[in-house]
Amino acid sequence: MSRMEPLEKLIVALGRLPGVGRRTAERMAVRLARDSGGLSRELGAALADVAGRVGICAQCGDLTLLDANPCARCTSPRRDGHALCVVEDPADIEKIESSGAFQGRYHALLGRLSPMKGEGVAQLRLEALLQRIAAEGITEVILALSPDVEGDSTAAFIHHALAGQSVRVTRLALGIPAGSAIAYADPLTLARALQGRQKM
Ligand SMILES: [Zn+2]
Repeated sequence: MSRMEPLEKLIVALGRLPGVGRRTAERMAVRLARDSGGLSRELGAALADVAGRVGICAQCGDLTLLDANPCARCTSPRRDGHALCVVEDPADIEKIESSGAFQGRYHALLGRLSPMKGEGVAQLRLEALLQRIAAEGITEVILALSPDVEGDSTAAFIHHALAGQSVRVTRLALGIPAGSAIAYADPLTLARALQGRQKM
């Protein structure tokens, strides 16, 4: 059975969301189509609001309101401006914040070096990172990157790019199991990993 065009478009769009397969997308779309008066309109308005008012912080890469860019965390005078924690994904920032072990600033790369997926230096916020280190007087860069092949090559690239600059480069070491993502670590594990970071 071929779907009506508006429904098929919705299914395809929903299917592009993380963790949503074709069947789940179909169920969601049918549910929305049946309830076109209420939920569809509410969802449509919420989506338009997010698209129009939420964006990426020009400094750290986390989400922020477009009329507060750089974000509140980047502009907070209470945070240590000398230490910069580099993460792959903005979701990692929330995890590290929940550990309470870090009071500095953040920089999300929005990915990591992955030649297989075509993610190279140009796709990541690496140039912005190097500029920030010079411009903001950062003295320590903490690499909170997942301990796997791609995380390792991203860390090695940054370490190499910062060679010759008077900045200490450390990396989370203890506590995080090899091959697992930062996003899945519990706050205590993350706190220990931060305390046990090592000079690269
Ligand atoms: Zn920010």
